[in-house]
Amino acid sequence: MQRTLSILKPDVTRRNLTGAVNARIEDAGLRIIAQKRLHLSLEEAQRFYAVHQERAFFNDLCSFMISGPVVVQVLEGENAVDRYRTVMGATNPANADEGTIRKDFAESIEANSVHGSDSLENAMKEVSFFFSEMEIVG
Ligand code: ATP
Ligand code: MG
Repeated sequence: MQRTLSILKPDVTRRNLTGAVNARIEDAGLRIIAQKRLHLSLEEAQRFYAVHQERAFFNDLCSFMISGPVVVQVLEGENAVDRYRTVMGATNPANADEGTIRKDFAESIEANSVHGSDSLENAMKEVSFFFSEMEIVG
């Protein structure tokens, strides 16, 4: 059993797709064991994406992530980190497999609907970035 951090990005909340994306998550056998809707500050977005701060797209990415509300979630399930990455699809929706969230919902490589932790180590860091133990009900 693993836990991973998921973010439904502002393109999802703007188009009222929170429930549609959550259905994909649950259909894949992942349980949403914590969830809250937030409007990130620029400082919070920059801190969350600090690993990308040298990348050319960093400023645009942070601006996008604060352009509207996000929904942050903890997902639990067998092999949750890789399982969710598979359900999400490739970063660029043009390369995403059929039936993935990004293939079906993403608007662009930047507005790509969802974030998922890329390793178990990062999952633990990212979960504690947003949630206290009291807020996670497995
Ligand atoms: P995430 O970390 O959001 O789950 P990812 O792991 O598939 O996505 P990363 O390489 O970690 O992709 O990039 C983080 C985010 O930065 C992407 O999800 C996307 O929103 C944005 N991004 C990545 N590459 C580009 C790019 N070339 N141009 C614009 N935005 C990009
Ligand atoms: Mg990533």
